[in-house]
Amino acid sequence: MSTGTLIWLTGLSGAGKTTITQALAPRLTALGHKVEILDGDAVRETLSKGLGFSKEDRDTNIKRIGFVANLLAKHGITVLVSAISPYRDARREVLLEAAKNGVKALEVFVDAPLDVVSARDVKGLYKKAIAGEIKHFTGVSDPYEAPLEPDVHIRTDQKTLEQSVDAILERL
Ligand code: ADP
Repeated sequence: MSTGTLIWLTGLSGAGKTTITQALAPRLTALGHKVEILDGDAVRETLSKGLGFSKEDRDTNIKRIGFVANLLAKHGITVLVSAISPYRDARREVLLEAAKNGVKALEVFVDAPLDVVSARDVKGLYKKAIAGEIKHFTGVSDPYEAPLEPDVHIRTDQKTLEQSVDAILERL
């Protein structure tokens, strides 16, 4: 069986990771890929239930997602991960593991400025974070370490959803 692919979408809450993943998955399926999605919000309800938002817990969360993603990708699945994953080192570890397994991995930076994502406020969380009602909120009161050399860099405030999906497909 041929090895799969890992597509890791990182970026601030509301940047567009889930939206892009949902649009990308059927396009890949149509191309013959077997696709699985690991979405950060769903993972925190299951695999990582109980973890918080300290650096240690965030790193544990990413290690768990990375572990599962790599297991799947090793066996021919195209895995789409949508997770804020704010720390560079944690992301690098997962991507290195993929390389060790011969898995093709893409780091996709889903990028929009803080004023744009907080104006979108898809989940109503920025308002609360800015008011101090939510602590450790990435981009407001917790760090986000942007990828230095992402394989794909998408400015979702400048591109349409279709252009964003195409930018990833072009790199595969
Ligand atoms: P995240 O998963 O990163 O937290 P979401 O996908 O939940 O973000 O929300 C992103 C929001 O931005 C959605 O309301 C989406 O419609 C909007 N949006 C605007 N332009 C784009 C784009 N080019 N790609 C993805 N989402 C976009």
